[in-house]
Amino acid sequence: MAAMTDAPLMPIPGHFDTVPVPRAAVVREDGRVDLLGLTREQLRQSLADAGLEPKQAKLRSKQLWHWIYNRGVTDFTLMSDIAKAQHPWLSERFVVSRPEVVEAQVSSDGTRKWLLRSPDAQDYEMVFIPDADRGTLCVSSQVGCTLNCTFCYTGTMRLVRNLTAGEIVGQVMLARDALGEWPSQPEGRMLTNIVMMGMGEPLYNFDNVRDALKLVMDNEGLALSKRRITLSTSGVVPMMARAGEEIGVNLAVSLHAVTKEVRDEIVPLNRKYGIEELLAACAAYPGANNARRITFEYVMLKGKNDRDEDAHELVRLLRKYKLPAKVNLIPFNPWPGADYECSTPERVSAFSDIVFQGGISAPVRRPRGRDIMAACGQLKSAAERKSRAELDRLAAEKQAALG
Ligand code: SAH
Ligand code: SF4
Repeated sequence: MAAMTDAPLMPIPGHFDTVPVPRAAVVREDGRVDLLGLTREQLRQSLADAGLEPKQAKLRSKQLWHWIYNRGVTDFTLMSDIAKAQHPWLSERFVVSRPEVVEAQVSSDGTRKWLLRSPDAQDYEMVFIPDADRGTLCVSSQVGCTLNCTFCYTGTMRLVRNLTAGEIVGQVMLARDALGEWPSQPEGRMLTNIVMMGMGEPLYNFDNVRDALKLVMDNEGLALSKRRITLSTSGVVPMMARAGEEIGVNLAVSLHAVTKEVRDEIVPLNRKYGIEELLAACAAYPGANNARRITFEYVMLKGKNDRDEDAHELVRLLRKYKLPAKVNLIPFNPWPGADYECSTPERVSAFSDIVFQGGISAPVRRPRGRDIMAACGQLKSAAERKSRAELDRLAAEKQAALG
């Protein structure tokens, strides 16, 4: 396999296509194998492939696992129960990576955003949102997104590639580093919750997201409970049952509209998987019940989806499918060039009241980190912003030349 740096940048193959990127096993420029993101079995196999006897490979992989995911150690020389003589052998062949941090910002409300870069120079972002009783890490699953929801900044990115399992779990590792939360302990953590709500559509990168979340949930490693992890999808219906069975975390669905006409427009994936089909898949989602309700996200767009009738229709639909549901109303977060405005606060609370009266909880999400463009739907990599600006400039020049 070619080194990552030689990989051509992948154009978006069409609105609905998944990104056909092969599975992890990233070969670094220096030829060493990154152990971060490997399953237990892959870790053992990597050691065996490098020449360790089966028994040795088994023992060492257990030790490495503990150092990597429980202790957060990246330097083999600090792994004290591994014989000193073996440290150089390991360092020559393997690394335990972290995503490169290009920029770290802190919002006036305490929200933190990191711009990260992969070895093949792809940028992605992660956001940490501290609250009084919890701390939530918002993790990206792809660089960009193929789905082009009209209100989402990430959807305007041209380039897309799936993040590897290592790059996904790497975000959690980096956050733990930044918060000083090693070794892993059950009590008193700042990072308590994870939401797959950063850049990208997690169900279009299913295997890597599953493998990464398995590492996050592993009891002997990062040990986060599946009840504290939420995966948000714009509605990739065919993957939802597998998400429930193979990952089993909480589900959030980006509904955003209740009529075919409006959802087709603002969430174009709706043209492929319609509202009724989506709600039926939610009703069948394994593990959903009244104690673990499905969250329906609804972005409040002025004059687009925010009428009283829409709120009534939302209640009717959720009831029709007997969904154990809660609704999360998200005030629209603006970005440069967006065609939408946020609904007025009065409209948002009127909408919320109607849904509440229909017996469904409908809190309004407090926007976080807007001043550093860290809020929902505002994530887009800096390099991409630049190239987009560059493109706009070129387009303007072309226009001018055409007279
Ligand atoms: N791709 C997945 C997960 C990431 S987006 C999904 O769409 O569900 C996380 C949430 O933010 C989604 O509900 C998304 O629709 C919403 N969102 C996107 N752009 C937004 C914006 N500008 N303002 C508010 N919410 C937005
Ligand atoms: Fe992609 Fe989600 Fe943004 Fe839609 S809202 S473009 S699915 S990241």
